Amino acid sequence: MGHELYCAGHLIQAGVATARATGDEALLASMLRQWDDLASAKSYLTGGIGSRHYGEAIGDAYELPPDRAYCETCASIASMMWNWRMLLVTGESRFADLFERTLYNGFLSGLSLDGESFFYANPLQSRTGEHRHRWNRVACCPPNIMRLLASLHHYLATVTDDGIQLHQYASSRIRAGDVVLSVETAYPWDGTVRVEVVESPDREWTLALRIPGWAREATLDGEAVAAGGYAEVRRRWRDGTQVVLLLDVSPRPSRGRCWAASRSSAGPWCTASSSPISRLASTWPTSPPIPWPIPSTTGRSRSWAACPVWP
Ligand SMILES: [Zn+2]
Repeated sequence: MGHELYCAGHLIQAGVATARATGDEALLASMLRQWDDLASAKSYLTGGIGSRHYGEAIGDAYELPPDRAYCETCASIASMMWNWRMLLVTGESRFADLFERTLYNGFLSGLSLDGESFFYANPLQSRTGEHRHRWNRVACCPPNIMRLLASLHHYLATVTDDGIQLHQYASSRIRAGDVVLSVETAYPWDGTVRVEVVESPDREWTLALRIPGWAREATLDGEAVAAGGYAEVRRRWRDGTQVVLLLDVSPRPSRGRCWAASRSSAGPWCTASSSPISRLASTWPTSPPIPWPIPSTTGRSRSWAACPVWP
């Protein structure tokens, strides 16, 4: 696997799209192997990809230096687009999990809080005062960030003949045919997600909500649900019915690869040893590590389609 952006951004996305359009199982299997290789051995805890500045290359397996990480912002965007396509083809939540991890970490690190300065490369550790720039001489990342943020609502949900699947959680209004949903949440700062069925036809359909693989505890309407995969509710819905998903977003230790410093996560956020969250997490040395990457889940559908969402 070579160039971080062209491999993840162009070649593989095109391969997945072709496999989906033609039903080429061998091509899809090849794309899955590429993803497994990248997610298990060649991506950072942040979801960022690209270890070498020379050639903007992804690098060898477990070659993941924190201070020399390349992790171009555009490569994170390309990875998110790749994961979205994999999600549509396979229906496996692990692709939505990596999309989320990259969104909140490998991607958002490329933009300052005031929105006026940018990282091109996103090192996980600064030894020599790296900082965001007002503009990049090679100016691909800033407009790519704007494009991704402007289209972010398209990545929240999908639809099938049988129902609606929610993959990323944000306050939004979702219409799929004759179904309208309202989602209210402060996620990821708060793990409570309220989904109201605003309009529903007089027939049964299934609402599926992704339970992130990192969630140590999760409940749906008070009942425990397992992390990794989707919690489903199938019923004949009435207008105004609500379901409430609770995700434990408290800090937890996370296992990174080839990164000596301690690290932890809170919800989908990754943080490092110098932050208060990490110091808190360091008091839990016996906590079991969260498995990463998320093991493969059984594909349930190969016909998921993007769903209109109004933020
Ligand atoms: Zn770029």
